[in-house]
Amino acid sequence: MSKKNYHKAIQNPIFEVIAKASKDLQVKSYVIGGFVRDYLLKRGTPKDIDVVALGSGIELAKKVAEVLPKKTKVSVFKNFGTAMLRYEDLEVEFVGARKESYHFDSRKPVVENGTLEDDQNRRDFTINALAISLNEKNYGELLDPFNGVSDLEKKIIRTPLDPDITYSDDPLRMMRAIRFASQLNFRIEEKSLEAIKKNKNRIKIISNERIVDELNKILLSKKPSIGFSLLFKTGLLEIIMPELTNLQGIEEKEGQKHKDNFWHTLEVVDNISKNTDDLWLRWAALLHDIGKAPTKRFDDKIGWTFHGHEFVGSKMVYKLFKRLHMPLNDKMKLVQKLVLMSSRPIVLAQEIVTDSAVRRLIFDAGEHVEDLMTLCEADITTKNPKRYKKYSNNFKIVRQKITEVEERDQVRNFQPPVDGAEIMEVFNLKPSREIGVIKEAIKEAILEGEIPNEHDAAFEFMLKRGKKLGLTPVNEK
Ligand code: ATP
Ligand code: MG
Repeated sequence: MSKKNYHKAIQNPIFEVIAKASKDLQVKSYVIGGFVRDYLLKRGTPKDIDVVALGSGIELAKKVAEVLPKKTKVSVFKNFGTAMLRYEDLEVEFVGARKESYHFDSRKPVVENGTLEDDQNRRDFTINALAISLNEKNYGELLDPFNGVSDLEKKIIRTPLDPDITYSDDPLRMMRAIRFASQLNFRIEEKSLEAIKKNKNRIKIISNERIVDELNKILLSKKPSIGFSLLFKTGLLEIIMPELTNLQGIEEKEGQKHKDNFWHTLEVVDNISKNTDDLWLRWAALLHDIGKAPTKRFDDKIGWTFHGHEFVGSKMVYKLFKRLHMPLNDKMKLVQKLVLMSSRPIVLAQEIVTDSAVRRLIFDAGEHVEDLMTLCEADITTKNPKRYKKYSNNFKIVRQKITEVEERDQVRNFQPPVDGAEIMEVFNLKPSREIGVIKEAIKEAILEGEIPNEHDAAFEFMLKRGKKLGLTPVNEK
């Protein structure tokens, strides 16, 4: 078989520049890893290019910057022996070929200079070890010592060396294997899967930030349940997020069963992923039922209940984000809010939808009312087509009502039509309890639909309510 040439993969002008710089320095260089893999998978435009040099990566990067027509800054990471420069929208990363050996208690290897083969050996997966030559003699030749191309075709994640050693050396690779399986819809080779199970506890030496990076990539893949069920089956999920694995299982008492809330959750995540690419909505779907494990009870009269699981769950969101060193910002608050309110529209969808119930929903959910509906729609996982239709139709009605009611009453970012200052002025009051009582009564009257959300109606209402409290308006004194 003649060697196929991959000139097409390296048409970007940066590669000629790298080739020229390599030649000047008399150092061989190759483009390697994700760039080559994604080219062969036709996975859209690349964001980064990794270049390996048989010599100093830092020197090569500096030479490339010299050869480039525009002035280009080189960022050097001396400790890692790498350098990076930007070319148009691309990040180009340079590293010297290396040979690595590991200590048990760290994922930081002892590094020596190595050959291209040494460098390919230290790569995590065969599909990530593919390299294309940038050298005059064999420019564009694909170097594929572990049959990575064949694994791409067979859709297999496989390690170049013994998987047991590969994962033990750097346990982050276990997360990466599962992440690639989820992103690419690939299968992890059996031997590899066994090695992950065996080495699962080594994940504890990986920082939470790195773990969350991979979790986010899994969540953002087309069908996140691929990744999460692998995390579950390998035992990693129990270590990383026991809140989720605690949801797994079905109990039966007095002939009554509850659903398996873990597998239900994964279905909800897949469902929501069809409708939104928003990472935080996907997190909300993943965590929407976590309060069900600690609140589960069997009641003689009503059977299985998870009373208050939304509240408990929203508290758990904070703890989980904190433990995993995730941002404790407005994104966390959004997830908490959606978990807290996750059952609200469901109640609405089971009954006749009244305007006042919808007004309350909009009032409480505020700007996140649509996100909440998106979550609740994803939460319908019944396999009964009649019931499915009924629930999703009811949600359609709720959505329609939300639009109608909001157009008319504008309670989404509720600003009381009569504020505290006005109440104080009318009754000549100092700050006091009565003001709060009147304000709350006005809000309630609007939400209940007793009065419209307008100043004059609210003013009238305030006068009546004030008199009930024994207050007299200043102009009647
Ligand atoms: P993506 O950019 O989509 O996350 P990628 O494969 O390019 O995927 P990077 O983290 O950019 O991933 O790494 C670039 C290359 O470096 C990989 O293709 C792989 O060859 C190698 N690599 C990255 N992380 C590891 C690791 N933990 N162990 C071994 N090799 C790794
Ligand atoms: Mg990359």
